[in-house]
Amino acid sequence: MMTPLESPRVQALIALSAAAFAAVILRVFPPSMYSFYPRCPIHEWFGVLCPGCGGTHALAALAVGDWREAWRDNALVTLSAVFAVFPLCFAVRWNRWPAFLAAPRVSPLAIRWALTAAMLFAAARNLDAHVARMLR
Ligand SMILES: [Zn+2]
Repeated sequence: MMTPLESPRVQALIALSAAAFAAVILRVFPPSMYSFYPRCPIHEWFGVLCPGCGGTHALAALAVGDWREAWRDNALVTLSAVFAVFPLCFAVRWNRWPAFLAAPRVSPLAIRWALTAAMLFAAARNLDAHVARMLR
């Protein structure tokens, strides 16, 4: 017998509620106006952008529906947020997790590809910032 908390629909609703709560917090207290959000230690210590830098600003932009600003702040986080919401909606609609989440088997190769993509994203955005500084 499945308890209510074991239901994919209930778990997805809890996750969506948490995401909605976070969106409300980001909308009421935008990171561009409030400084209580944690700063990225990699950016603070090394002066370079990590793959997650600008992620909070991107999520705040998504919370107000500004896709362009979210993409400009952090394309990787914007894409990840979109792909995170899809399985939640699937679970709420059909009361089950998508097959790729129901039996998660992440291969080491997939992890290597994801880490490589994140590192390439970080390299590209730092190179872009460096070139922009040189052109000023
Ligand atoms: Zn960072």
